[in-house]
Amino acid sequence: MSNLEVDSIETVCGDFVSGDVPGSVVEILEPREVPLGGPRAFTVLRTLPQRARSLVGAWCFVDSYGPVPADHAGTMTVPPHPHTGLQTVTWLYAGEIEHRDSVGSRALIEPGQVNLMTAGAGIQHSEVSTAAATELHGAQLWIALPDRSRHVDPFFESFTPQPVTLGDATLRVFIGTLAGASSPVSAFTGLVGAQIDLPAGGRVEVPVDPTFEHALVVDRGTPRLQGVTVPTTRLGVVPAGAATLHIEAGDEPLRALLIGGEPLGEQIVMWWNFVGRSHDEIVAFREQWQSEVIAGSTTSGRFGEVADYPGAPLPAPELPNIRLQPRG
Ligand code: MN
Repeated sequence: MSNLEVDSIETVCGDFVSGDVPGSVVEILEPREVPLGGPRAFTVLRTLPQRARSLVGAWCFVDSYGPVPADHAGTMTVPPHPHTGLQTVTWLYAGEIEHRDSVGSRALIEPGQVNLMTAGAGIQHSEVSTAAATELHGAQLWIALPDRSRHVDPFFESFTPQPVTLGDATLRVFIGTLAGASSPVSAFTGLVGAQIDLPAGGRVEVPVDPTFEHALVVDRGTPRLQGVTVPTTRLGVVPAGAATLHIEAGDEPLRALLIGGEPLGEQIVMWWNFVGRSHDEIVAFREQWQSEVIAGSTTSGRFGEVADYPGAPLPAPELPNIRLQPRG
C-alpha cells in the first residue's frame, strides 16, 4: 500500500527531549494523516519519512492504521502497484489482508505474522482486506535496500514469530535478532523489528546493538522510552550509541513496534512507491510502469503481472515540477 508524494511532506520538526537515562536523547516525531484510495476513505498515520528525519537505520517509511471497522471485504483496497529498491513489511494487530504479487505469491496476511516483500529490481502487488475479521489494525513499513542489493530479483517471505518473554515484556521478533530470538526473513543491512507488549505498570530493559538507531512506533499506551514519554501514535527515536533501551508502560498496557538498524549511510530518492538514487532513475521507473503495465505494451519487463486481480492497476501520479532531491 501507500502513495508517497515527497512534495506532501509537511515541515514537521522533530522534538528532541533529554531523558532521565544519562546521556539519552529521544526524538519525538508526530504523525500526519494521509488518505489512501479505495471504496471507503481510509486514513493512515505516517511517521516516516518527514523533513526532520528520513531514515531509522534502513527503515524509510512507517504507516500505521486502525483500528477501523472491517465489516466487509475491501475496506482497504490497494490495486496492483509497483515497488523498486525496497522491502515492504506488513504487520497486523487485527484483521486479514490478501496479498498478491507478480512473482506468483497469493497469501493471506494475518495478525502476528510478518509478510516481507523484497521488491529489488521491481515487483507489483495488491493488498485487499478480507471480510474475515471485524476490524483492521496494523502497520506497513518499508526498508530501503542498500545500493549493493537494490537490483536483486524480487521475492516474498512470510514468518510467524514465537512470542518470547524479557522482563515484563512479550516480544515477537519479526526481523533480525533481539533477546535471543531471531527471524529467518531476509535482511540486507543490520536490522531489527519486533512487536513489544507490556502490561500496565510493566517495564523492560532491552539489550540492543549500540551501532543501531532505534525507534518505538507506539500503537497503544503512553510509554516512557529512556525516561521520555512517547505519546500514542508518535515515533520515539533513539540515536545510535545506546546499548540498552529502557521501556516503561505507564498506567496503560503498551503495544508498539520496536524497529532499528545500522545507519544506511546512503542518500536515497523516494517518490510514490519507488526508492532509487536519482531523479532520473525515478523518472525511468515511472515511465516503465506506465508503458509496461498501464498502457500494456509489454508484459515481460521490470514489473511482471499480478495474476487474476479483479481490477485495474494503479497509474502513477504526475511527477512534481521540481527535481526530486536525495535524502538520507
Ligand atoms: Mn505496496
